[in-house]
Amino acid sequence: MAAEIHSRPQTARPVLLNKIEGHSDAVNAAVLIPKEDGVITVSEDRTIRVWLKRDSGQYWPSIYHSVSSPCSCMSYHHDSRRIFIGQDNGAVVVSENRRLVAVLSFSAAHQNRVSAMVFSLESEWVVSTGHDKSVSWMCTQSGSMLGRHYFTSWASCLQYDHETQHAFVGDYSGQITLLKLEKQTYSIITTLKGHEGSIGTLWWDPVQRLLFSGASDHSVIMWDIGGRKGRTLLLQGHHERVQALRYLQFTRQLLSCSADGGIAVWNMDTQREEAPQWLDSDSCQKCEQPFFWNIKQMWDNKTLGLRQHHCRKCGKAVCGKCSSKRSTFPIMGFEFPVRVCDACFDTIKEEDRTPLATFHEGKHNIAHMDMDPSRGLMVTCGSDRIVKIWDVTQVVGSSLATGFSPR
Ligand SMILES: [Zn+2]
Ligand SMILES: [Zn+2]
Repeated sequence: MAAEIHSRPQTARPVLLNKIEGHSDAVNAAVLIPKEDGVITVSEDRTIRVWLKRDSGQYWPSIYHSVSSPCSCMSYHHDSRRIFIGQDNGAVVVSENRRLVAVLSFSAAHQNRVSAMVFSLESEWVVSTGHDKSVSWMCTQSGSMLGRHYFTSWASCLQYDHETQHAFVGDYSGQITLLKLEKQTYSIITTLKGHEGSIGTLWWDPVQRLLFSGASDHSVIMWDIGGRKGRTLLLQGHHERVQALRYLQFTRQLLSCSADGGIAVWNMDTQREEAPQWLDSDSCQKCEQPFFWNIKQMWDNKTLGLRQHHCRKCGKAVCGKCSSKRSTFPIMGFEFPVRVCDACFDTIKEEDRTPLATFHEGKHNIAHMDMDPSRGLMVTCGSDRIVKIWDVTQVVGSSLATGFSPR
């Protein structure tokens, strides 16, 4: 029974280990320092802080540095101990973990707030996106700008394939652009269109060549780039905009976090189906009653036009009467009940309704998330100025047992 499945007690969940408070404005990014009980945070309050766990079990800021402009994003490169900080004034500043003073600065990286950055040690490049609608790439050896491309709307997030120098840029129009970056030049490979709202976050898995995107339309899409067949999987379970993603290669789990504090763990190691394209029709594809814009048929049949709906399982255009039932259909990513036509409803078996994701409460606005799968740790932060450190071994525990270590 569906009711039994949904009321099943959920014991495996993220466990809150620590709360870090002290920032006086939104915390825009927090990252875990590998192999150390440490967290680096950047905030709208214009500070960068390195927090280390004391014997008391509490985290205290061991280093604290103020800058001239709010810190909008951060990227931490552990091997070189370099911290890349994007600022509200468009600058990208590079500093070192142990001192936090700027060792390099790109003051004109953007003309407006920096939204995301990736550092590539291989090429000594830092790639960044900003609210000046551009993606920029710069050389950290020479300190010079290498190239820039402008989009038609704010560039909000970024992922980068280090091996092939391809950048994925998500923007406020809901598009994702794939660019190949070269020194001094670049080419646009393709644009990915699927979301109905601004892209909030991207995650690229270079091994399985999968791109995950989360957006303000509350959904996550998995783009099978490596498969080259344009296969996309839609994942719907959040009730707010999706702002953080992380794919765990070994257990094939996807973690997604939304602005309302929702934390979802998706099982991607299972057979999933693509959601159908929505079909267009002038009349219900079940009972053939005309939709309201079909004036001619309405006149001929002397019937009133009906509103058009779509069955999420078959994609057919149907009237409300022919699609009165709702069902979850996790195989297509629908973890909460959605509209299905009566014929499809009858084909959905009880076992088809078994959830393929678990949902948890972060209980704060999650703007950014970082994970250390080898220790089973997750850190979340947001506009409530709080940083939370979680033990997620219960939900992603198997990655530890198998000795998986992150790249
Ligand atoms: Zn109908
Ligand atoms: Zn249907």
